[in-house]
Amino acid sequence: MIQYSLSCENDHKFEAWFKSASAYDEQAARGVVTCPICSSSHVSKALMAPAIARKDNQKVALSAGHPEQVELRKKMRALREKIVAETDYVGDQFATEARKIHDQEVEARAIYGEATTDEVAGLIEDGIDFMPLPNLPEEHN
Ligand SMILES: [Zn+2]
Repeated sequence: MIQYSLSCENDHKFEAWFKSASAYDEQAARGVVTCPICSSSHVSKALMAPAIARKDNQKVALSAGHPEQVELRKKMRALREKIVAETDYVGDQFATEARKIHDQEVEARAIYGEATTDEVAGLIEDGIDFMPLPNLPEEHN
């Protein structure tokens, strides 16, 4: 799994996970990588090295204090709250439910929940559409 920092044509910055660098290239080429703020599919890698799934003591790129960053965080929080309020929580059944919806075994609906990195890799491999729920640093305080 590789985490990329991406930015869209409107300069929104966001993070997304991909199975591999080539998986990102392939999905970006198909236009299925979209901005969580404005839904633009014109995205590109932000000028930042990809962080390969967390290792201890690995450095991460950070920034603080820019007014647009503060604004983006507010939007991310609002988006997260909206998603949580308007979708069904399925807990650790996320991968199972997302696959059932994808395979049209159940009626289409919006869901959120948790999945392991293995399950995430499986969903990406099967071309099932999902995104990380916006995660806000201050929630870890
Ligand atoms: Zn955007």
